[in-house]
Amino acid sequence: MSRQIRVDPPKLGFFAKDLRRIALECRTGGDHLLAQTSGALSYDGQYAPWIQAIAGEADHRLRLFGDKLDSLADLLDRIAWAFENADSLDEREMHFWAGEYRALIDAGFDGSTFPWWLIRGQKPPWMSDSVWKHMLPEDRDAYLASLGGSWPEFASSGDYSHATDDDTWSAFLAWLYVQGQIASPPDEGVWRSAARAAGKTLEEYLSEISNTPQAQVDAWFRAAEAHGFHQESAIHEIAAMARAGETVEEYFGFSMEGDWQEEDKNTVVESVLQVSHAMAEITGGSAHEALGLVYDVSADDPLVFGWENCPECNGLGGYTYGRNLIRFESLSPISELRRTNNVVHELGHAFHWAMVHAGVEPDPYSMLEITQNSDPSFPNRLAPPSDRWARGPNYGFASPQKVYTWQQSALEIVREEFADQFLGWTFDEWESDEFGLTEKGQLRSDWMDQNMPIWVKAVASH
Ligand SMILES: [Zn+2]
Repeated sequence: MSRQIRVDPPKLGFFAKDLRRIALECRTGGDHLLAQTSGALSYDGQYAPWIQAIAGEADHRLRLFGDKLDSLADLLDRIAWAFENADSLDEREMHFWAGEYRALIDAGFDGSTFPWWLIRGQKPPWMSDSVWKHMLPEDRDAYLASLGGSWPEFASSGDYSHATDDDTWSAFLAWLYVQGQIASPPDEGVWRSAARAAGKTLEEYLSEISNTPQAQVDAWFRAAEAHGFHQESAIHEIAAMARAGETVEEYFGFSMEGDWQEEDKNTVVESVLQVSHAMAEITGGSAHEALGLVYDVSADDPLVFGWENCPECNGLGGYTYGRNLIRFESLSPISELRRTNNVVHELGHAFHWAMVHAGVEPDPYSMLEITQNSDPSFPNRLAPPSDRWARGPNYGFASPQKVYTWQQSALEIVREEFADQFLGWTFDEWESDEFGLTEKGQLRSDWMDQNMPIWVKAVASH
């Protein structure tokens, strides 16, 4: 510690008492003034209103002053209490803790949220009685010692005194997990409570601890919800990523090369999260594992999203070069939905190449061609209308041809139909009317629901 503060707690207590006495005198004085001037009319009618106004104002000020003195007295009492605690730590030869504690109080930390249970060797507030009871004394000591070593670093890592003591302990527990000092992630309630301690929303808090833009945390929650995952599983994934000290890109095994705008990066992350969660619904594991398994990518050998440098894009949109390389010349200026769909469509092409790479047969393009050749009822896109502004039918997709929302390509060729089906499958969006899915929408949806699990499982067991 750089400096020692010498404080005499009993003196502070006396001073606080003095302040309270003066506060009381102020109020009594105000009452006195009012009582005296209320009778002013009887001895000087002319000046009575003026005198009464002055007395009223003086009474008001005396009361405000009294309130201020009272709150000062409260503060002094709290400081006295805090320093008594520090002194008692010194008396018990816990000089390190006494120093830490004084430093915290000096920095304005609320002493009531100090981990006294830790100092007293008691059960951590988050642990159940039965678990604590069954721990050997030496294990308890070792556990508390390791917590004790972590507390000062935690306390100086942020301000966790925005809510209750329990919320502060939650923030400590969450911090311990992210630091890799406890094995299993705390449950959802603890993360929410920790966010309260930090005075933040859950999304803000997770964004901060994982060093991830909040737009991406929001996208993570959306993807989890869209694919039937509990919010807790998204929280645990984000926390595991923070614990590993990885970015979203490293954690999922993709990278963005070239001069990407921040907003476009968020679009790519949203798309990857949606696709990987859709796949994790099949693998039953976590989303980042699903992406790695299916595309055979990792932080060291990532799925690359390149910006520009794409002759095959012909100046517009994206082009997929293989299972792990997609380049973009532009994303749709129309809406965020279309921009996300641009990327998911390309991930559909890359999915085909991932199946080819894994030797899965028949691959998606071939399989769709087989179906369209053998089943005349299965929708089959025709070349788009030549009139520049004319739109074609939906062909089972959720928007008409040449609208470019759910048919990202207008082309009749099988690879473009598959990539659009991949997009429809990712978001479960197909052609529908007031009765639900149309016949063509149902056929495309069923085809994907039948084949995607086979491909994803084949590649996952590869
Ligand atoms: Zn395409």
